[in-house]
Amino acid sequence: MRRKAAENSFSLSFPPPKRKIPEQRKRELAAILRKDRAETLEIIVRIKQNDRLACSLDKDEDQKLLRGYRERVRKLDMSIEKTLRDEFGFCKSCNQEIELEKIRSLFLTDTCRTCDARLAQEIQVRLTEEARLEKELQILPINRQQS
Ligand SMILES: [Zn+2]
Repeated sequence: MRRKAAENSFSLSFPPPKRKIPEQRKRELAAILRKDRAETLEIIVRIKQNDRLACSLDKDEDQKLLRGYRERVRKLDMSIEKTLRDEFGFCKSCNQEIELEKIRSLFLTDTCRTCDARLAQEIQVRLTEEARLEKELQILPINRQQS
């Protein structure tokens, strides 16, 4: 038991070993990110066109949207670079490959589905425990000296 805890803290205090992304996965990751990038650029062009044609309803809102989409392009560029350096798409918790499906729907994700489920369960356990403690506190007799 004690040994296990020591091993855990050891693995947490060092960065995970560098892994190589298999070529096939690297291609798929890059394709997902480039597709997202192209789509985001298209949206940016469309917003700018609407502004030029003055058919936009709210220019301030458009500026806000543009900033958001430009930031997304920047992050996608960074992720593409990281993919080429074998640094993208690994779970920060278990260092396994994150499912392509998850990256497709949420490219900035940094945990895999297995770890998501585990973390959700840990939170659930903690909430249950907190609720139990709260209930116990409520049924404790109140301090009689105060009244
Ligand atoms: Zn994981």
